[in-house]
Amino acid sequence: MKGGPLHGALALLRPHRTSLVVALGLGVAATGASLSQPVVIGSLIGGMSGGPFPTTTLLLLVALFVVEGAVAAAQALIVGRTGSRIVLGVRETIVHRLLRGRMSDHQERRRGDTMARMLSDTSLISGALTQSLAGMLLAAVTVIGAVALMVIIDPVLAGVTALCLLVAAVAGLTLARWVRRATVDLQGRVGDFGAAVERALAGLSTIKISRAEDREAARLTAHAGDAYRAQQRVVRLVAALLPAVNLGLQASYAVVFVVGALRLSSGALSLGTFTAFLLYLFYMVTPLVNFFASAAQFQQGVASVARLQEIMTLPAEEERPGAVAPVAPRPEGEILRLDDVWFAYQPGRHVLRGVSFSVPARGVTAIVGPSGAGKSTIFSLIERLWEADDGAIMLGGRNVRDIDLAELRARVGYVEQHAPVMDGTIRENLLYAAPDATEAELEHAIEAANLNRWIDGLEDGLDGQVGEEGAELSGGQRQRVAIGRMILTRPDVLLMDEVTAHLDAESEQALRDSIKVQAAERAVVVIAHRLSTVVDADKIIVVEDGRVRGEGTHDSLMASDDLYRRLVHTQFAPELTEGKVRR
Ligand code: ADP
Repeated sequence: MKGGPLHGALALLRPHRTSLVVALGLGVAATGASLSQPVVIGSLIGGMSGGPFPTTTLLLLVALFVVEGAVAAAQALIVGRTGSRIVLGVRETIVHRLLRGRMSDHQERRRGDTMARMLSDTSLISGALTQSLAGMLLAAVTVIGAVALMVIIDPVLAGVTALCLLVAAVAGLTLARWVRRATVDLQGRVGDFGAAVERALAGLSTIKISRAEDREAARLTAHAGDAYRAQQRVVRLVAALLPAVNLGLQASYAVVFVVGALRLSSGALSLGTFTAFLLYLFYMVTPLVNFFASAAQFQQGVASVARLQEIMTLPAEEERPGAVAPVAPRPEGEILRLDDVWFAYQPGRHVLRGVSFSVPARGVTAIVGPSGAGKSTIFSLIERLWEADDGAIMLGGRNVRDIDLAELRARVGYVEQHAPVMDGTIRENLLYAAPDATEAELEHAIEAANLNRWIDGLEDGLDGQVGEEGAELSGGQRQRVAIGRMILTRPDVLLMDEVTAHLDAESEQALRDSIKVQAAERAVVVIAHRLSTVVDADKIIVVEDGRVRGEGTHDSLMASDDLYRRLVHTQFAPELTEGKVRR
């Protein structure tokens, strides 16, 4: 979608134009039935003043009532359905945009605000676009029709009426534009509220531990209050719209009555004609009010479209749907190489400054370094969650830039440090990256990740539910579930950000064993937080301040690298003192 929000709103309506035209046609038919009623009523009054009772005319009137009702119902149905379809279409588009969006774009968005757009703004456009557009067009047709008939009946009175209505129209349209501006503000504040709620829920335990419930509640209610006040502004504008239009109408009545009475007494107007004219004037009230109410509603929809466009136009990662990782023989020798890689999350603030190292196709490569050195960033670049600014990352001799994302992410598994478990059963979690894995492969992965004893001990086994965000799993269990999930994709390289948490001896051993099993088959690159891991590693890379500072084995680095020695005595100190690792 290009162009402004109005253009965007019309673009959303375009695919549904047939339905909208049909709805408009039905609306016109209903209006026609309604507009012809004054004529029929007029002739009914005329017919009753003498002669036989006008039965046919009465039946015609009844028929007009029935037709009007039925057609109006059909019209409402079509309009309502079209609205729901537009919402569905927008939500489908957004779902794809969100999941395919780049990490860098997501980082700039607040999740709660995105949620608000997804739920609140999409709901708003449903009625606001279709109903209001249909309403506006219909009302316009009705008013134009009524005015045309009034001109035929009495041009002088019609002219007077039109002049009074013009004033009402200018006021009404101005207010409708203000409604749009106020709605953009309102929806923005709903987004702020959503973002604040999200923040609070994500940090619920921190809030409680910090005894910050009252402060956080005050923050949230302040946001809710902002949204309330913004909504009041919209409500006030919408409320002012109707009196403004009514004022114009009442002025018309007064003038029409006076002018009509004068023309009646001078004989220029008959009582029947005057009655018909007045009936048209009354008939116009509802459509006129509807017109301006619809215009205000339409402007609210346009406001939401503007907010949705921001998400619907997010650039996506490369999209090659259906790309499946080809099964290729696992290369021997070196599998992964970083060559002078530079990267900054924000322009000018380099996190990696020329990182180079290589990873053999088998065995454990450990990355160590102070926190903030850029270790996790290296993993994100290898997975292309973020794109390196400069330098090359080669996987099996190919630049990762040239590898299809689906293939790359199948070849490189990533076991993250935190929350890699999703709501659902353990089986669903294990199969998440490889839904088509066989039962035998699943068994193998469970064994390789050292999960069998734990799963056997569970009441529901594999089909047991994990709590939301893995709340019922310990750090070591979570990480092993994530390892199992990655093993099932049979990656060439397994990246792993080791848990920093203290593990009990059994978990520690289980994790250590599963890393060993993996390293026999593939390259395992571990951001090491345990001394046992680095001691066992085939190769250790020391990262400091975005650069590789040294490489070697535990023994060679202990002899040559004072930072490494320091890390061993600080980061890994607890294990030394507990005597888990003797050196
Ligand atoms: P490590 O894993 O070695 O602790 P990271 O790679 O996580 O280090 O972080 C390196 C630097 O990049 C840190 O200064 C951190 O604040 C910054 N950083 C990490 N992630 C982001 C991000 N998503 N946006 C901006 N800065 C980030």
